[in-house]
Amino acid sequence: MKTITTHYIGGSFVESHGREMMNVIRPVDSQVIGRVTLADEEDTRCAIAAAKRAFATYGRSTKEERADILRRLHGATSARLDELTAAMVEEYGGVVQFARLIVESGVNAFPAAEKALQEMEWTRNWGKTTVTLEPVGVAGLITAWNANALFICLKLASAVAAGCTVVIKPSELSSLQTQVLIEALHEAKLPNGLLNVVTGLGHVVGAELVRNPDVDKISFTGSVAVGESIMRDGAATMKRVTLELGGKSPTILLDDADLAQAIPAALVLAFMNSGQACAAGTRLLVPKGRLDAVKQAIRDAMRAFTVGDPGDPKIAVGPMVSQKQYDQVQSYIRKGIEEGAEVLVGGEGRPQGLEVGYFVKPTVFVNVTNDMTIAREEIFGPVLGVIAYDSEDEAISIANNSKYGLHAAVLGTDLQRARRVASQLRAGRVVINGMTDDPQAPWGGFKYSGVGREYGRYGIEAFLETRAILEV
Ligand code: NAD
Repeated sequence: MKTITTHYIGGSFVESHGREMMNVIRPVDSQVIGRVTLADEEDTRCAIAAAKRAFATYGRSTKEERADILRRLHGATSARLDELTAAMVEEYGGVVQFARLIVESGVNAFPAAEKALQEMEWTRNWGKTTVTLEPVGVAGLITAWNANALFICLKLASAVAAGCTVVIKPSELSSLQTQVLIEALHEAKLPNGLLNVVTGLGHVVGAELVRNPDVDKISFTGSVAVGESIMRDGAATMKRVTLELGGKSPTILLDDADLAQAIPAALVLAFMNSGQACAAGTRLLVPKGRLDAVKQAIRDAMRAFTVGDPGDPKIAVGPMVSQKQYDQVQSYIRKGIEEGAEVLVGGEGRPQGLEVGYFVKPTVFVNVTNDMTIAREEIFGPVLGVIAYDSEDEAISIANNSKYGLHAAVLGTDLQRARRVASQLRAGRVVINGMTDDPQAPWGGFKYSGVGREYGRYGIEAFLETRAILEV
C-alpha cells in the first residue's frame, strides 16, 4: 500500500495542509492500492505564491537557460521510463504497449519543445520598433487521467520554453503516477518554484487556480463541462485559457480503401488507450456498397483486440479507469441498443473470465445513424459506431455534423483524393491512412473540442504575450 501525504512546492516535498484522504483503486481488480492526502486551497495558494516568486527571475531567463532546463527535464524523465510506464499500467490500467508510447511521447515533449524554442523568432525589429515574445506569467496546468505523464510533460515543456513558472493540478485519479513523475522531475534540479504540483480535487485545487488573480494562464485537458466552467470563471481575472476537450472523431473509409489495411487501422483509432482517448475515431463512415464486406473485415480484425491484464504485452484493451467510467460505457451500450443500433461484436456486461475489475467488451455497432446518442456523445470507452453513407460529399457532411472537431481520419488508396477529403474536415488534426503523430504539429480542437493548440511552436505560443517597444 503506497501512501502519499506531500505536495511539491518551491522545490521541496512538503506535507499537505489539506487533511482529506482518498483511496487509489486498481482498475484490474478494484482493490485499494494506495492512499493520498488531497490538497486544499491553502496548499494551492502556497504553490501559486512559490510560482509567482520564481517567475520574477525565470520570466527573464534567456533562450539558452530555458533550453538547458528542457534538456535536464528530458534526462531526468527518460531515466524513469520503465517506472513511469509501470505506474500507468497499475494505477490507470493502460495496456503496457500503449502506456509506454504515451510515456515516451511525454518524455520526448522536452526535446521537441527545445527544437521549437530554438527555431522560433523571439524578437523582430523594424525601424524604431522592437517586438518581443514574453512569457504570460504563472500558469496553472490541469490534466485528465487518461495520459497523465504525457499531459504534464507536454504542458510543462511548453510553459518552460516560454519562460513561465507553473502550478500543476494533476487528475486525482493519477496520484501514484504523478508521484513517480515528480520524483523524476525533482532530479532535474530546477530553480525553486519553477515547478509546483498539488494533487487534489477539481472543485477545490482546480477552482482555486482558476479564480486566483496571481495565475495568468490556465492550460486544461479534460471534459467540456469543466472546460466551460474554466472559461466562465476565469473571465473574472481575465485568464488566458487553452482548453483541450473531448471528441467524437470520424474515420472516413473511402470506397477505394483496401479493407485488409483500413479496417485494422480504423479499429486501432477506435480502441487505442482502451477507447479512453480524446482522439478516438468512434464514428466509422463506410460507403453503403461496401457495408457487408466491412462487417466481415471487422469481425475478422477484432480477434486482435484482446481484453485482459494490461501488463500483458499481447493485450490490446485494458479495463476502464474506474467504476464510474465502467458504468458510463455500459449505459451508452444500452442506449445504443435501445435506439436501434445493432451490436456486431461485444455488447453489454463484462468479457468472459474477467468478472472483477472494470473490464468492458470492445463493442462495434452497425446500423448507426448520426443522430443517435452513441454517434453524438463522447463515450470514452471502446465503443465504435459504423455509419453508412452514399457519396463522398455525404461522408464529409456526416463527419462534420458533430459538436466536436478534435481529430479525424481518412482511409483510402488514392492519396490525392484522401487529401482532398481531409482538407474539408472541420477538425484540428486529420490523419491519412492510420494513426500517426508529429510533435511539432499542432493539437487541439475546432468547436466544442476546445480552444487553442498544444505541441511545437503552437504550444509555446499559448504561453506567450507579444510586446512592442517603439522609440520616437
Ligand atoms: P474532467 O473534466 O472531469 O477532469 C479534468 C481535470 O479537471 C481533473 O484534474 C479534474 O480534477 C479537474 N477539474 C474538475 N472540476 C474542476 C473545476 N471546477 N475547476 C478546475 N478543474 C477541475 O475530465 P476527465 O474525466 O479527467 O477526463 C476525460 C475528458 O478529458 C474527456 O472528455 C476527454 O475527451 C478529455 N480529454 C481531452 C484531451 C485533448 O487533448 N483534447 C486529452 C485527454 C482527455
